[in-house]
Amino acid sequence: PGADAVGAGTVRTHCPYCALQCGTLLSRDEPAGGADVRPDPDFPVNGGGLCQKGWTAPALLTTPDRIRTPMVRDAGGTLRPTDWDTALDTVAARLARIRAEHGPDAVGVFGGGGLTNEKAYLLGKFARLALGTSQIDYNGRFCMSSAAAAGNAAFGLDRGLPFPVTDLGAAEVVLLAGANPAETMPPLMRHLGAAQLIVIDPRRTPTAARAALHLQPRPGTDLALALGLMHILVVDGHTDRDYVGRRTAGFEAAWKRAASWWPERVEKVTGVPVSDQREAVRMLAAARRAYVLTGRGAEQHSKGTDTVAAFINLALALGLPGREGSGYGCLTGQGNGQGGREHGQKADQLPGYRMITDPAARAHVARVWGVDPEAVPGPGRSAYELLSALGTDTGPRALLVFGANPVVSAPRADRVAERIASLDLLVVADFVPSETARMADVVLPVTQWAEEEGTMTNLEGRVLRRRRLLDPPPGARSDLAVLRALATRLGDLPERYPDEPRAVFEELGRASRGGPADYSGISYERLDAGEALHWPCPGTPDGEAAHPGTPRLFLDRFAHPDGRARFAEVEHRPPAEEAHAEHPLYATTGRVLAQYQSGAQTRRVPQLTAAAPEAHVEVHPDTAARAGLTDGGHARVSSARGTTLARVRLDPTLRADTVFLPFHFPGDGRANLITNDALDPRSRMPEFKVCAVRIEPAELE
Ligand code: SF4
Repeated sequence: PGADAVGAGTVRTHCPYCALQCGTLLSRDEPAGGADVRPDPDFPVNGGGLCQKGWTAPALLTTPDRIRTPMVRDAGGTLRPTDWDTALDTVAARLARIRAEHGPDAVGVFGGGGLTNEKAYLLGKFARLALGTSQIDYNGRFCMSSAAAAGNAAFGLDRGLPFPVTDLGAAEVVLLAGANPAETMPPLMRHLGAAQLIVIDPRRTPTAARAALHLQPRPGTDLALALGLMHILVVDGHTDRDYVGRRTAGFEAAWKRAASWWPERVEKVTGVPVSDQREAVRMLAAARRAYVLTGRGAEQHSKGTDTVAAFINLALALGLPGREGSGYGCLTGQGNGQGGREHGQKADQLPGYRMITDPAARAHVARVWGVDPEAVPGPGRSAYELLSALGTDTGPRALLVFGANPVVSAPRADRVAERIASLDLLVVADFVPSETARMADVVLPVTQWAEEEGTMTNLEGRVLRRRRLLDPPPGARSDLAVLRALATRLGDLPERYPDEPRAVFEELGRASRGGPADYSGISYERLDAGEALHWPCPGTPDGEAAHPGTPRLFLDRFAHPDGRARFAEVEHRPPAEEAHAEHPLYATTGRVLAQYQSGAQTRRVPQLTAAAPEAHVEVHPDTAARAGLTDGGHARVSSARGTTLARVRLDPTLRADTVFLPFHFPGDGRANLITNDALDPRSRMPEFKVCAVRIEPAELE
């Protein structure tokens, strides 16, 4: 149904959090000045369901510590409220000085995977034109960049799910590698209800508990397991030879790597019994319709791209991708983690999901922007490399942060906070005082989901309308208006920075035309009429019927010039850090149901805070007994990089060599105080999912 098919005082919109982007009907709650939410029964992705984060999202709209006025830090070091002109003039003057003294790359920009498509697009344009800097990247680099790199290499195109979520409902078997949707995106589970699940996860997560088969590898060994599954598949004669011959290239080279991963060797490296490996392959091979899906557990490694590639190899050998009712996909995490990577806020990309080094892409985007291609800077540093270079001799002296909280969410969070503290200027645009905003020299209060118009792109590449129900507080401005005002003060042309979301979307469509993520045939009118549009959706010449979008990719051909998918030649390697005498356990990090990402938003929702109030560490009872830990007591978890404090939660289903910490919590409870900043050489994804630690009791005051 279209936007109009709801009553007055109600808008059809989407949850502000994860990549499922559940459909909601949001109504004014007049006496309280906030909103009431209910699931949109007509949106097929959540089909009338929401998780507790979605049900409680309206609390964000009335959070008592909403930032309502710009703030500038005074000479004494205190953030003081001020007016918009003063704040913007301060930022512009200080940026101009830093650029004059140190050059344009002395200013960095850090974006977010929760920004709307319009904000992500305008932020990339602002960075490259108004600031002239190459130093822009975003927190999605920490999310699924390795899956994006592997997907691009295999299929010639990366779209999280190259099929609608609803297709999963017909699957007989689904392999979930490092994904825990029962906790991270519960409404997705309704589409998996008919399938037998094979879950690969060191933890017995709520998803693993529902699985027909749970493979529980040692952290950091998923790649060996994927190679081993392919080994059994090929040796047992389950390869789809016809599909491999017709639709793929590179099988023999990939097989040569998998050939030495016989089941007993895989068991030794991963800890997964041979019988379970065989059972997983038997289930996959017997299914007529099956999917292989990866999540952060497989992706957030210093070998994340190769790990995902190994699971794609497995899917290709089974003949799944590009077949209706089967396939490979990545369960993207952040709300606009998909769209956020397509419109130019990535260090190496321009709008339309084009490579910034491609001369034709540069020429096209420069034409849309009305500048010479030479005026568009080249590639910059990836997210962690950017953050760790801040304030150094060669790194940026100033940083603008939009929609991110890296002092909690980045690896080696204390080091990142140190680098941020060394900056000459930190500017943060946010609607709540996140831990990063509290460090800022200038804080710019911006609008949030129910106060603004725009679009998001969910994990299946479907473009969705975010709609405004409420007026923002008088002191808040849209990010688009902030970028326009700053660009103008920096001497750029105001007309280059429209502050109307619809106008930005139209320009974004033109900039994306002909690129992999082509939005040029999508309009607010079509979305508001209720059309379900998945990119690519190219614009069509006048008089032709509008392009219907592409819910299913690769049915006829993959996006490489020869139409064939590529097997990858990948080899297992150990994690960047193995457990050893001083740090004898593995730590892995992730999310819990009641919190989201750095927690800057969800920690402000009373019901969610009550459900998950503080940092905790899950420990096997035997491990706890050896370390002298008690259930409910406190523990100090230390790696070579730092120490974090958390309350102990005993979990007899966890591997005894592994502890688990959610990363949503601030201060001394930041899981990212211990995580490893080793980066994947291709995607620059940090190794959030495995590091060596020791654990001991802690006395807290
Ligand atoms: Fe929101 Fe994701 Fe929960 Fe849906 S699953 S309600 S999009 S947080």
